[in-house]
Amino acid sequence: MATAPAPQQLSDESFAATTESVPETTRKSRRRKTAHLKLVPETRGLREKMRAKCAEVAAKLDKSVPLSKDDMEIIVRAALDDLGMPEGYVGWMMVVFATEFWRDQVATIPPERRLFLLPHCLKHAEGCPADYDEFGLECKECGACSIADFRGIADDMGYKVLVAEGSPIVLKIILSGYVDAIVGVACLNVLEKAIDKILLAGIPCMAVPLLSSDCRNTSVDEDWVDEMVRLHKTESTQQTRSYVHLMRAATQMFEPEQLERIVPRLRGGPRLAEVNGQGAAGLNPIAATEAIAYDFLSKGGKHSRPFITLAVYDALTGGHGTLSDGAEKISGFSDAILRTAMSIETFHKASLVHDDIEDDDAFRYGEETLHRRYGIPTAINVGDYMIGMGYRLVSRDAKELGPDVVADILNNLADAHMKLSEGQGAELLWRDAKDKRLKPLDALKIYALKTSPAFEAALYSGVRLAGSVDDYAEPIKQFSRNMGVAFQILNDLKDWRGDDDNKLSAGGDTLGGRPTVLWALAIDGLPSAEQAELLELVGDETVGDEYRISRVRQLYEQADVFEKAHRLVDKHQQRAESIADALEPEELRRLFYYLIDTVLERPTEATEPQVPSPIITQLSIAAP
Ligand code: SF4
Repeated sequence: MATAPAPQQLSDESFAATTESVPETTRKSRRRKTAHLKLVPETRGLREKMRAKCAEVAAKLDKSVPLSKDDMEIIVRAALDDLGMPEGYVGWMMVVFATEFWRDQVATIPPERRLFLLPHCLKHAEGCPADYDEFGLECKECGACSIADFRGIADDMGYKVLVAEGSPIVLKIILSGYVDAIVGVACLNVLEKAIDKILLAGIPCMAVPLLSSDCRNTSVDEDWVDEMVRLHKTESTQQTRSYVHLMRAATQMFEPEQLERIVPRLRGGPRLAEVNGQGAAGLNPIAATEAIAYDFLSKGGKHSRPFITLAVYDALTGGHGTLSDGAEKISGFSDAILRTAMSIETFHKASLVHDDIEDDDAFRYGEETLHRRYGIPTAINVGDYMIGMGYRLVSRDAKELGPDVVADILNNLADAHMKLSEGQGAELLWRDAKDKRLKPLDALKIYALKTSPAFEAALYSGVRLAGSVDDYAEPIKQFSRNMGVAFQILNDLKDWRGDDDNKLSAGGDTLGGRPTVLWALAIDGLPSAEQAELLELVGDETVGDEYRISRVRQLYEQADVFEKAHRLVDKHQQRAESIADALEPEELRRLFYYLIDTVLERPTEATEPQVPSPIITQLSIAAP
């Protein structure tokens, strides 16, 4: 049995500052409980008064860039102070304020390019005869609730209407290019997440909060919804910058037709999807590996890595891609730029194929994993093919990009690749080792190796495509390290909520034998008897998973692991923020803050409604 080695690639000094104080930034930590901030104003009069205040404040603001969540909260808190109202209304007021902020931008988009989202919980739960299909709830218009009326108005105006929930699906629809704005009704728990995922990206959005978050037989200020839906198209005097065009470009270049245009297949022949369910057997054996790889590349994923490369390149070349005619500007990016942005995603996809083999996962993007479908040897080989392809995507453009640029980017990618493999190797060796002790510092080093290099490579590629990296190499490295570590710790924390994007059982990482910082903090912080119990418990399959998980949770709580982990996230986030503060130009600084806000999304303590949503299954929302 292997013994887990402590990774040596990163110096202890580079992590020693983990426990030191960090410089003050212009922003504050986002970590705190929010349940007490989600009161809904009780009376209609109060709601009207607060909405009027939001409209008054929003009218005076510069709307050229989307507000950060922190900025929005500061503004809303000041407005509540003005009204002499308690902070409990912050959540509700932020939604109403955001709606007023975006009203003009939504109005510039014709109704047929808007998506109208309604929640299932508005239905009359006891007697609703509606079924669910792949697009959500299919209302039978029985008249028992307001869904049918709202739908009718919106349909008549040309809206796309969906009775479904979840910000990932909304983002997916936006990125697919069918709509450019969202108007919706939802509870404050759902809207809190939507602010992170949708508003910060600069996607025009308006919402009316439900009057309760009970998930059943809910109600809403119906005339507010009516007024929102009937918002007529007008021109705006000011345009607000948005990342949506860059996000779309990053996603759309992996659609089969675009993929083949930007990177024509060398072997040609039919696509995997064109061989009528025969799978690889329907393909010429020489062309099969390429066809399987292209098919996998065109599947799900958030395409956050290519987005980062394109967005950094755009930020350093004028930031035109974030303007309202950004799509046109981005269409002027050369194929060599697009291919470089694609390379980092291609490596990522290769690593997913290999990870799925290592963990023997059954599904990826809602479909059978490649090794389950074609066997392990073929899946390893397809992953290898994509690694070669990732390098080729950059190396082929030496003439257009310049040999020095290509050499620098390839070096950076190769460095990232080696570090990622080291991090993964450390994790696998630890998983298979008998000795499960782990120091927090070593857990953090594994995180830095596993997550930060891809982030750094995506940023570095964007900078190098735009010019010199001299002023950016070190900030990018430090920013990526802090972001990667904070992201992984948040992932560990989400694992204990049991409802993240990847799995439905809490504590899966512990039983799966992953070397998490939570585990390391518990080993570090428990008295020797409890430490021994923890070490024994995780490998003891004679007791049920339920008992083991609940006892591990108790021991984690005894060692104050969750609070310590949150503090670590705060520190790494604050470091990332202080690096962002020092960056020029402003477009780049804003992008880095956007990445902090969206990548470091905090697990909320409130439980979101777990409504069955067939469309989410159908579109296979992908894990990061
Ligand atoms: S109007 Fe539609 S959603 Fe509402 S209860 Fe009737 S069938 Fe269900």
